[in-house]
Amino acid sequence: MSDFDEFLQRNRVFAANVDLARLAMPESMPERLPLVLVCADPRVEPAGFLGIGTGDAGVLRNTGGRVDGRVIEDIAFLAVRLGVRMDVAIVHHTQCGTGLLADPAFRRSFAERTGGDDAVLAERAVTDPAVTVRRDVEKLLADPLMTGEVLASVSGHVLRLETGLVETVVGTAAEPVAPARR
Ligand SMILES: [Zn+2]
Repeated sequence: MSDFDEFLQRNRVFAANVDLARLAMPESMPERLPLVLVCADPRVEPAGFLGIGTGDAGVLRNTGGRVDGRVIEDIAFLAVRLGVRMDVAIVHHTQCGTGLLADPAFRRSFAERTGGDDAVLAERAVTDPAVTVRRDVEKLLADPLMTGEVLASVSGHVLRLETGLVETVVGTAAEPVAPARR
């Protein structure tokens, strides 16, 4: 699949069956909304391995499915804009391409080409997804933007490509320290 025209064809079928304008409006939003943070790897498409459909959840994707400043801003913006509290599920996966960033030689050549910072690139590597997902849950919970009004809960999971199964590493008991004011 590399031809975007094929996707446009599918869009015509989709548009005939779904009224997007009626979805995701603040007045029709539940009080809490699931939001999934996952890698941009095409194999780990959440519509596939989680069966997420239109209007079911917010989805944020970057390489590795890592928590960074941009992700934190996006979660806060979505929560405020939609007037919901987010149940964030972070999913890292085995065989992640970001694992290459753990190799100093690869990192150096990549940093030279992109002007990236070596330490930042090293931090993005997902070599043990159970370890990095736990670290990212803690990072999100510790961020001052993630008040109880924005964040209802955070959980951490690993998708094993070998089986297609998701294992929960950090359950939804992890909740922000700052209380909700509503
Ligand atoms: Zn990945």
